[in-house]
Amino acid sequence: MRIGFIGLGKMGSGMARNLLAAGHEVTVWNRSPDKARALEPNGARVAFTPAEACAGAEAVITMLADDEAVHGVVFWANGIADSLARGAIHISCSTISTELARLLAAEHATRGHGYLSVPVFGRPEAAANAKLLVVAAGQKEIIDYCQPLFNAIGRQTIVAGPEPWQANLVKICGNFTIASVIETLSEAFAAIKKSGVNPEVFLGAMNELYNSPVYKGYGQAVMTPGTEPGGFALRLGLKDVRLMLKAADECSAPMPMASVIRDNMLSGVANGQGEFDWSSLALVAARNAGIKA
Ligand code: NAP
Repeated sequence: MRIGFIGLGKMGSGMARNLLAAGHEVTVWNRSPDKARALEPNGARVAFTPAEACAGAEAVITMLADDEAVHGVVFWANGIADSLARGAIHISCSTISTELARLLAAEHATRGHGYLSVPVFGRPEAAANAKLLVVAAGQKEIIDYCQPLFNAIGRQTIVAGPEPWQANLVKICGNFTIASVIETLSEAFAAIKKSGVNPEVFLGAMNELYNSPVYKGYGQAVMTPGTEPGGFALRLGLKDVRLMLKAADECSAPMPMASVIRDNMLSGVANGQGEFDWSSLALVAARNAGIKA
């Protein structure tokens, strides 16, 4: 397929590479142009505006940071809304609000475009290795038509329903559960370390108990939290928990855990951890316990 790809951050660059490797014609645009030029050796064409990435495209994929970025790139002059051909499809892979997904679905429909929300689970390594868990929602015929693209970036596609926002809610709720695992592990490791118990013993017990890649990966990361820019930035984790609270508010489903995690993430960001991996929530729990993580 001829596709435009917009947003070549930690996730988008790996996804675009895999689409190229699968034989699709990909024109890329990124706000910082060096990340777009980096894909030229893989066969990507570089666009100078989002409109250029849409020219002649059957589908345009966005993998941008947040609601503000997606709204901007869609509705700017030279943005997607005014540039995409009638009948072409916008596939939004970012973790965005259900509210923005509803707006995008409505605005694209008035212009004769298709729209799918297709957020993904998996970290940048999974994006680079085409192992993402893809969650798609929207019209079934459009999902079926785009399935080769999802096959190129992921290991499995889960269809959340006929309304695009449904995929965004699945993604937001899923990330909330991962954030809860990180929060509880962070609090537990703070208690274990402060009491002088061997953290490796605790980690081994947890892995035996849960036997889950999420506990395995984040258990290790929380036990030894890094202070380098990480795979999933804490500032984006905070964005996702805020999306959870907003969605919970919309449907009147109280989420007291989400409020606790939001405050702890805010504390991390306020203490200079915004670019660290979100497993650096461990540093917040350690500070609260008066120990070094
Ligand atoms: P990232 O590395 O920070 O990349 C963000 C991308 O958005 C970059 O291309 C950035 O451009 C662009 N951007 C940000 N603000 C913009 C604006 N105002 N206008 C235009 N472009 C803008 O983030 P990421 O980790 O790839 O995450 C991307 C999305 O995937 C997020 O919604 C995130 O929640 C979601 N996600 C992330 C992970 C993960 O583990 N990292 C996993 C699943 C889903 P520049 O290069 O110019 O900054």
